[in-house]
Amino acid sequence: MIYLDNAATTKPYPEAVEAMLPYLNEYYGNPSSIYSFSDKSKEVIRDTRDFIADSLHAKSEEIYFTAGGSESDNWALKATAEAYALKGKHIITSKIEHHAILHTCQYLEKQGYEITYVGVDENGILNMEELKAAIREDTILISIMFANNEIGTIQPIKEIGALAREHGILFHTDAVQAYAQIPIDVEEMNIDMLSGSGHKFGGPKGVGFLYIRKGIKIRSFVHGGAQERSRRAGTENVPGIAGMGAAAKHSFRIMEEKIKKEIEIRDYLIDRVLGEIPYCRLNGDRNRRLPGNANFSFRFIEGESMLIHLDQKGICASSGSACTSGSLDPSHVLLAIGLPHEIAHGSLRLTLSEETSKEEMDYVVDNLKEIVSYIRNMSPLYEDFVKAQGKKENRDV
Ligand SMILES: *Cc1c(COP(=O)(O)O)cnc(C)c1O
Repeated sequence: MIYLDNAATTKPYPEAVEAMLPYLNEYYGNPSSIYSFSDKSKEVIRDTRDFIADSLHAKSEEIYFTAGGSESDNWALKATAEAYALKGKHIITSKIEHHAILHTCQYLEKQGYEITYVGVDENGILNMEELKAAIREDTILISIMFANNEIGTIQPIKEIGALAREHGILFHTDAVQAYAQIPIDVEEMNIDMLSGSGHKFGGPKGVGFLYIRKGIKIRSFVHGGAQERSRRAGTENVPGIAGMGAAAKHSFRIMEEKIKKEIEIRDYLIDRVLGEIPYCRLNGDRNRRLPGNANFSFRFIEGESMLIHLDQKGICASSGSACTSGSLDPSHVLLAIGLPHEIAHGSLRLTLSEETSKEEMDYVVDNLKEIVSYIRNMSPLYEDFVKAQGKKENRDV
């Protein structure tokens, strides 16, 4: 099997799995208990919190554990909206956010909030002029993702943070695709809130965190006990937190090397695909993108059928679109960068890890070439296109 869907989830690092086991077996004590048997549970929570805080240049008391990226996004948006409603009811986000943000925004719209969805350029980079123009007296929050999960584009986060700060507006970023993959500094980038998720960087699923800058008036997300400074009640997911902590440590240890390797293999893949398969394009910015992300569109192809053929060759990939979740609408991200529906439908996302090799890429491209031409040869649209091209060429001669 060749696993090229690391944007969907990652293979847990052995370090992460190892780190979880003692908290599933021996150290099952409730971290809120007084007796010393619970000290181990308390310690691993403290240790993970300290490490994640350090890695972001934040303070330990600014890290809150959650059940993953979606919860962190929901919390950041809903609780800020509620806490700052008297100041204003306007929120700015982008057209290419993850559904955890977009659907939360739709929910808030029903609650009487106004949301502005800022557009992006043809490479998926946020339109800064449009962002500036969207700012109003009653804007309480700007939420822009750090890096896009479909096309990998990395946003000008520092500029956005500076702009938000200048206007006294809170700035949240969904950094689920970026945290532990590329360096982030919440101080330098003026980030007030940041979402992260364990399973996107080699940790377990169902555990994540939200960084909330000290002093921000955000509401509790889960009411109950005093866990997470009374802002997110519920007995902590101790094994999950232990696994996420170990995964974060490992990710930061290998980050530099991983980035270098992934960029090299990714660029090799991109060059081969663009050079050897006709009528295809790369989606997203060629350079300002996540090291492991490649996203292509092939004309005269249905993304779904490509995925099924790739699966038969043992390749796990994604169309990076809503198609995979049972909806036939093309990806909102690809439409936002201006692709027409039929081209957006023929998209393929390949997301690498540091384990992905050049040999694997050769196998993938060789198979992809065959699959693309096989599917195209069955397409009446492609047949018409080829005929028309032939006529044109004859005329040109
Ligand atoms: C995966 C992902 C999420 C959701 O994270 P979960 O931990 O799966 O809930 C949110 N935002 C982005 C950008 C993601 O890639």
